[in-house]
Amino acid sequence: MALFGQKKRDAEKSNPAPPVRQVMGREVYCAVCKAYRAFSRCWLRVAPVAKCTCCGLDFPSLEAVYRKHLPACPRCGEYLEHPGFEYGLCDTCGSKFELVQGAKPGLLPNRKQRENMSVYGKTWSKD
Ligand SMILES: [Zn+2]
Ligand SMILES: [Zn+2]
Repeated sequence: MALFGQKKRDAEKSNPAPPVRQVMGREVYCAVCKAYRAFSRCWLRVAPVAKCTCCGLDFPSLEAVYRKHLPACPRCGEYLEHPGFEYGLCDTCGSKFELVQGAKPGLLPNRKQRENMSVYGKTWSKD
C-alpha cells in the first residue's frame, strides 16, 4: 500500500486534520460490475467537502451546497460525500459508493457515469 502512505503523508503536510480517515477495505456489492468486488480503498468522510473533488470548484457556501438532499457540485454535478459516512472505490471499475451498514451501497456516479445517465436516462453502464 505504498500509494496510501504517500497520500497520507501529503495530507498531513498540508492539513493537520485530514477531511477523511482511511478505514478498512472490504468486499462490497458493486452495482456497476453487478458482482461482489474488493474495495481496498475505503474512507470515512470527516469534514464536509469544501472543494469539488471532480472539477476543483471552491464552494462559496457549504451550507447552501449541503442543504440539498443529495448535495452536488453546482458546476459539474459531482455528488458530494456526507460527513460521518463511509465511502469506497471498486477495485475493478473504480466506481464510488456510499457504504452504509446493513444497506445497499449507493453509487455516487462520476462524471462519465453522469454523462451516460443524462444521455440514456438512467444507465451508468460502462459500455
Ligand atoms: Zn465495480
Ligand atoms: Zn465540480
